Amino acid sequence: MKKSLVLVFTLVILWMEDTGAEESDGFHLKGRTKRQIPKTVKVTTILEQPFAMMTDSDLEGFCVDLLSELSKTLKFNYTLHVVKDGRYGAKDQNGNWNGMVGEVIRKEADLAVAPLTITAIREDTISFTKPFLQTGIGILLKKESFSDGSYFFGFLNPFSKELWIGIIISYVITSLCLFLVGRVSPCEWAEPSNEQNRYTLLNSLWFGMGALTLQGVEPQPKSVSARIIAVIWWLFSITLLAAYIASFASYVNNTKAQTPNIQTFDDLLKQNKIEFGTLANSSTFNFFKNSKNPTLRMIYEYMDKRKDRVLVKTFSEGVQKVRESNYAFLGESLSQDYVAAKHCDLVRAPEIIGRRGYGVAAALDSPIIRPLSIAILEQFESGNLEYLRQKWWENTCTSAEVHDGWVPVQPQTLGGIFLILGIGLALGLIISFIELVCKSKCKAVQQQKSCCSAFSEEIGERFGKSENQESLEKVQP
Ligand code: GLU
Repeated sequence: MKKSLVLVFTLVILWMEDTGAEESDGFHLKGRTKRQIPKTVKVTTILEQPFAMMTDSDLEGFCVDLLSELSKTLKFNYTLHVVKDGRYGAKDQNGNWNGMVGEVIRKEADLAVAPLTITAIREDTISFTKPFLQTGIGILLKKESFSDGSYFFGFLNPFSKELWIGIIISYVITSLCLFLVGRVSPCEWAEPSNEQNRYTLLNSLWFGMGALTLQGVEPQPKSVSARIIAVIWWLFSITLLAAYIASFASYVNNTKAQTPNIQTFDDLLKQNKIEFGTLANSSTFNFFKNSKNPTLRMIYEYMDKRKDRVLVKTFSEGVQKVRESNYAFLGESLSQDYVAAKHCDLVRAPEIIGRRGYGVAAALDSPIIRPLSIAILEQFESGNLEYLRQKWWENTCTSAEVHDGWVPVQPQTLGGIFLILGIGLALGLIISFIELVCKSKCKAVQQQKSCCSAFSEEIGERFGKSENQESLEKVQP
């Protein structure tokens, strides 16, 4: 009885010690787990931008910052070294692992803090924490240069096709309206017997073109109705020209480099201008190799057939190949985002496949994994991981981004000016008819006719019925 009381007492004291450690740290780790972290941890990493980069004397980057945060939270010291063979970790034919995975297995490193992808085959040999970053597989491309003459008719690009059609239709309608007003309005209509008519159809078309190109061509309108149409057309032309010049300037800047046509992995297969490949023996290569999706399978077969030409040894070799030749690099989107943010001639296609995560790795079933996972989740929840992500992936290509957003001017953008033109034309026509009605009234009073017959006489004179024809009609019974 006494013995069992002593045992219970000891257990209670041990439990209280555990709880005390937890509270004093303000961190939700079981004390027992925490004590299993060695005081000095050997950490391996890989030189990969922006995860770990060599500065003059030291290493810096996202993973270096993350490791520092984790060591502060879990209170351990560490030594950091770069993996000797510069590889992530793959199994060779003899079943031996190379790279960071190999170092962790051989206990040359306690941890691997690097952009090491969590994969099934690795998880079978080493342990991973919860992912600290999510990524996927993307396509890194060089922005297209339009210096090859393919944009010979680029001067038409500032406006969309629909807008050009709209402008041509407006031009023809306005010229027709001017021609009509030139006939209907008594101020514009010259008696054919006295002088030549000013607004013939050809003259009207000529006048419209002159205004569009800001050349004040003759004949200048005299009547209110024709002047209304002319003023509205001038306004329309000026607005169009301003929009064209602004859009053309933006287009010219944009033509220096523009996002290529390849948007998806399907697009890659459909073309033969650009070769594509990935890192040899990488998790990306294995993803395509193991995929059952026909498109991804075809990508694997393509890369496997040309492996000497399209597979690269390092990420930076892949980036260089993209910049220097007609090559698309398939790789992890986070690293691609980084290079696209730093090199403005590069871009990542929008499609991302095979979502995966990066985890901190340790020996299989290592007790370090659990506290590290909790610490990583804490970093997530405090927003610190997001802060680090923004810090290391800062975009320095903002001007290029703006250019990427360039689109030709659409009819909707200039919808208002089309509406005003429509209203102006209608107003011009109505006023010209009112002018003609007034003239017909005067004529009717003078010649003591009905207003209607005077009006139809005027219309007849203007549209096709010559005086000779009329007199002939009068003679015939
Ligand atoms: N992060 C990858 C790995 O852990 C390497 C890059 C890649 O597969 O594209 O193997």
